[in-house]
Amino acid sequence: MDDLKIRQEIIRNCLLMNESGLNQGTSGNISVRQGDRFLITPSATPYEELAPGDILSMGFDGSHDPDKLPSSEWRFHRDILQGKPEAGAVVHTHSAYATTIAIMGLDIPAVHYMIAAAGGNSVRCAKYATYGTEELSANAVEAMRDRKACLLANHGLIATGGTLQQAMWLTVEIENLARQFFNVLQVGRYNVLPDDEIDRVLAKFATYGLRTAAE
Ligand code: 13P
Ligand code: ZN
Repeated sequence: MDDLKIRQEIIRNCLLMNESGLNQGTSGNISVRQGDRFLITPSATPYEELAPGDILSMGFDGSHDPDKLPSSEWRFHRDILQGKPEAGAVVHTHSAYATTIAIMGLDIPAVHYMIAAAGGNSVRCAKYATYGTEELSANAVEAMRDRKACLLANHGLIATGGTLQQAMWLTVEIENLARQFFNVLQVGRYNVLPDDEIDRVLAKFATYGLRTAAE
């Protein structure tokens, strides 16, 4: 995809995040790898006002057009894209249920087989650190070891994908898992799938039709 198309796709998905209720206001941010650089949303800009030229191109050394301010979370976008060569996009939201579980400081366990879409038997909750810091990025990278997504304590959710479409798809799936987990927490009794079942699902996902959506 050429540069302009990716910028337009980023804006379209930012608007979609808010319209679908996944996110609100200027919270959340999106990045997409482009060659040896990445494109990322600007900081604190209402999504309805975004024009393709507002999306920043950043180097992995953090360099960018000095007249523009990248998302305050550019560090975790950069560090995740750097550490996961298979990831082409990173989506961060403050979606309601994922954030609720993150406020409880809980990992999402294997309460549904779809947890495997995140790459394993859980979605971990990264330790809290102030937004925009290197410490938050380090905590997120640690929580995303062998995973495509993580929660951020008292903050939100990060999901990745081979493409932006896949990262958005996973964002929706994790938010749904978080809602299911929140619901069963109200009852207080639930079953967790064993690791060997998650391994079977992971193996099936490798050839399932969802593969185009989930990688
Ligand atoms: P930005 O507007 O700087 O991208 O920050 C939003 C956010 O979600 C911070 O965690
Ligand atoms: Zn945030």
